[in-house]
This record gives sequence, C-alpha cells and structure tokens, in this order.
Amino acid sequence: MNALKEKILQDGKVLSDSVLKVDAFLNHQIDPQLMKEIGEEFAERFQRQGITKILSIESSGIAPAVMTGLVMNVPVIFARKRKSLTLSDNLYISNVYSYTKNESNDISVSRDFINSEDTILIMDDFLANGQAAMGLIDIVQQSGAAIAGIGIVIEKGFQPGGKLIQEHGIQVESLANITSLKNRKVTFLEEVDSK
Ligand code: 5GP
Repeated sequence: MNALKEKILQDGKVLSDSVLKVDAFLNHQIDPQLMKEIGEEFAERFQRQGITKILSIESSGIAPAVMTGLVMNVPVIFARKRKSLTLSDNLYISNVYSYTKNESNDISVSRDFINSEDTILIMDDFLANGQAAMGLIDIVQQSGAAIAGIGIVIEKGFQPGGKLIQEHGIQVESLANITSLKNRKVTFLEEVDSK
C-alpha cells in the first residue's frame, strides 16, 4: 500500500536493526486519513470471507481495526492487556509472551462478544515474532468461531511471526512488509523482489 509505505519512509524512525517507531501516525499521534485508507484496503482484501466481527488488541491495533470495521459494517472488539474493573469472570484468556519486554501477560476478551457463529478477522498494528497474533488466534479458537485471516498494518518480514501464522494455515495480509531495518534504512519486500 503506497500511501502507508510513503508515510513510513517520511515519518517512521528506525530505532535499531529490529524496531521501527511510528508514533507520528499510528502508535501515538494517529493520521485519520491514512487509517481510513487502511480500513478500505483491508475491507477490500477480506471482502469475500463473510466476516462478522473484527478482533484486535489494545491499544495500537484499535485505530486501523475501527476504520476497517466501519467500512465492513461489523463490530470491533479489542483484547485487553490489563484486567478491567468492569470485566467479569466471563472471559477468554490467553497468555502472550513479549520478546521485547521478556515477560508474559494475559490478554482477555469477554465471552459476550465472540461465539461459535462468528467469522473473525484478527488485526494488529505490527507483526514481529507473532506472539500477540497467536494469543488472539488462541482466543478465537477458544470461542469456536472461524478465523477469516489476519490483517497487519506493518509486518517485519525478517522476524518469524508471518511464517509462524501461515504454518497454522491462516491467511496473513500485511499492507507493508519490511524485509530489513539495517543501517537505519527501511527496505520493503517489493524492492527486494524487483531486483
Ligand atoms: P509480536 O512480536 O508479538 O508479533 O509483536 C508484539 C507487539 O509488539 C505488536 O503488537 C506491536 O504492538 C509491538 N511491536 C513489535 N515490533 C514493533 C516495532 O518495530 N515497532 C513498534 N512500534 N511496535 C512493535
């Protein structure tokens, strides 16, 4: 998706060989026009899957997920990372390991909002090692719902998450796939392919 790639090149900051900061348009300040285009793109890519709901994770997955839900006209749920005072025991819970923080945390979704009749599109801002996505997959599997696929705004293709999820037979659609962040330079998948 060209508008997204241009934005990454213009406003993204490469912090190291493995971390890209996108606080200027996705993770802190949000660019609504870009989110709208992202929503339209995901809606088009998943339009024939019979999706009934979108499942994302707080907080950075919410903006692209809501815009996609708006275009697809389906509800959007986000998994919580912290226990909410108003959440009951009626939860799907999965344990997610974070390589960057070297810690495990439970994520949870109320059982009121996903059931076995649903077809779920899972969405997140980044795909790196795939642990967040695997936690969301686990939650959908607990509910008995079908998984239509995973929509990712930025995949870091040099990390194992994409392969891990595809090995589970789940379709991954990423709008920008970064193959390298070496030497503070962002390289996208197409640039490598066209060589
Ligand atoms: P995972 O390793 O489980 O695929 O990624 C976990 C989470 O870490 C993602 O949901 C995303 O929020 C965050 N993350 C991973 N890599 C990056 C990165 O390079 N930049 C930013 N801003 N967040 C990242």
